[in-house]
Amino acid sequence: PFDVLVVGAGPAGFSAGIYAARKGIRTGVIGERLGGQVLDTMAIENLISVPYTEGPKLAAALEQHAAEYEIDVMGLQRAAKLVPAETDGDLHTVELASGARVQGRAVVLATGARWRHIGVPGEQEYRNKGVTYCPHCDGPLFKGKRVAVIGGGNSGVEAAIDLAGVVEHVTLVEFDDRLRADDVLQRKLHSLPNVDVVLSAATSEVLGDGNRVTGLTYTDRPSGETRRLDLAGVFVQIGLLPNTEWLEGSVELTRRGEVVVDERGATSIPGVYAAGDCTTEPYKQIVTAMGTGSTAALSAFDHLIRTSAP
Ligand code: FAD
Repeated sequence: PFDVLVVGAGPAGFSAGIYAARKGIRTGVIGERLGGQVLDTMAIENLISVPYTEGPKLAAALEQHAAEYEIDVMGLQRAAKLVPAETDGDLHTVELASGARVQGRAVVLATGARWRHIGVPGEQEYRNKGVTYCPHCDGPLFKGKRVAVIGGGNSGVEAAIDLAGVVEHVTLVEFDDRLRADDVLQRKLHSLPNVDVVLSAATSEVLGDGNRVTGLTYTDRPSGETRRLDLAGVFVQIGLLPNTEWLEGSVELTRRGEVVVDERGATSIPGVYAAGDCTTEPYKQIVTAMGTGSTAALSAFDHLIRTSAP
């Protein structure tokens, strides 16, 4: 068994693995895709102290950094179930989809999240070519341009307010006939001169010239008419889904499926910690994932020295 078993091999998982291994304890990292969401990213400009990098490069750097230590990195492995220790100090078991079982005295959950897609033509084709899911990451790329935000919940309205300060013009496109964001956000949104809100609008296609996004079309639901917006960017903000289906019934999750953690990364199960996008940590970024990953590993180590035989 491992002393610390990390499930998930994105920025949070690698950070947890490296912090654990630096304590000289047996550390394993299991993950489906080594690098996580970073693999789907092109330009990264907010990894502090690294002014510019690209996703695949960062993913390779994570693996290289882990290779400096004795970490058992197991890629292409999908965790299917967590069976917590029956008594404090016993082993926690992670059952893999392959049928194998891996055990740890402490476990760090770092299985990340995925953005919900609108599922219309052009969305995949123009991903990273104008279609984006992260205003904190990509807002500055659209300085002086026109963009749309899809989604009128809190995250969509926050994104529109944020982007309005950076880009030339924002159109917020909402499927429903009203916004669902908090009133205070809606008031702020409506006070901005360079934001339009389009309600009852079902986005039907992301348009492009083969290289870049040039606009989108939507169906005006009351009239059934198709309308077009000319744009350089489309920010999709219809929800972030944590990869925690496999944890249902074991660890405490919120209604939205996020693993509930405290400021030390502790979950509802003693000896089980969590970090990154799969948790209730409010901001979902590479640096925050790395930060919470280190917190979870240090908490796991602290737990081990209190509960395990040396
Ligand atoms: P993830 O990166 O999601 O990694 C999760 C890991 O868990 C993966 O290895 C995955 O394969 C694995 N996993 C999932 N389920 C299982 C399972 N059941 N069993 C085993 N393994 C599993 N952030 C920034 O700070 N700057 C940016 O510029 C930026 N750009 C982005 C662009 C895009 C297109 C996207 C999608 C995200 C971007 N982000 C950016 C957000 C950033 O990538 C995430 O916040 C960060 O990757 C979260 O790290 P994580 O380790 O928590 O999760």
